[in-house]
Amino acid sequence: MELTLCLIKPDAVRRDLTGSILFMIQKAGLKVVALKMVRLDLNQAQGFYHVHRERPFFGELTEYMASGPIVAVVLAGDNAIKRYRELMGATDPTQADEGTIRKVFALSKQENSVHGSDAPETAAFEISYFFNAMEMVG
Ligand code: UDP
Ligand code: MG
Repeated sequence: MELTLCLIKPDAVRRDLTGSILFMIQKAGLKVVALKMVRLDLNQAQGFYHVHRERPFFGELTEYMASGPIVAVVLAGDNAIKRYRELMGATDPTQADEGTIRKVFALSKQENSVHGSDAPETAAFEISYFFNAMEMVG
């Protein structure tokens, strides 16, 4: 049993795709164990993506992430990190496999509809960025 953090990003929330994306996730057998809608300010977006602070796209990425509400979701399941990354598809939707969330919904490499943790250590940091223990069901 493993936990991972999913974010439904501003481009998807804005287009009312939250339900459709959660449907794909639940159909794939991943369990929702925590969920909230939040709007990050620029500082909070920079803190979340601090691993990318030296990258050329950092400024645009963090402004986009603070541009509107997002939905934060903790997913649980066997091998959840890898399974959810596969369901998301490649960062660039033009490279994403058919049937993945990004292939179906993403607008561009930046506005790519969803985030997913990439390893157990990043999942632990990212989950704690949004949720405390009381906000997660067992
Ligand atoms: N991103 C971008 N341009 C790039 C690479 C990434 O705008 O050239 C954005 C995109 O929204 C991506 C996020 O930065 O989801 C984090 O990048 P990462 O490489 O961690 O991709 P992910 O893990 O989300 O697939
Ligand atoms: Mg990443």
